[in-house]
Amino acid sequence: MFVIFGFGDQKGEEKQGSRVEHCFHCNNDRVWIASKVTENFSLFFLPVFPYKTTYTYRCPICNHGHQISKEDFERM
Ligand SMILES: [Zn+2]
Repeated sequence: MFVIFGFGDQKGEEKQGSRVEHCFHCNNDRVWIASKVTENFSLFFLPVFPYKTTYTYRCPICNHGHQISKEDFERM
């Protein structure tokens, strides 16, 4: 039997933060973006189950940022 499977199928969700942050990387003050990226295990190109979720908070200009917790993401 021929089975195609893979890791790394990604789904993302983004939302704007609620306050202006200063970015020390590009020196701009902007509302940052909180994003959630879920990586899925896929079978025959269909996502079967998520195996990794990362939450980040980043500058929309230079994409410099850091990881945040799920709770922080949901609070935004
Ligand atoms: Zn920046």
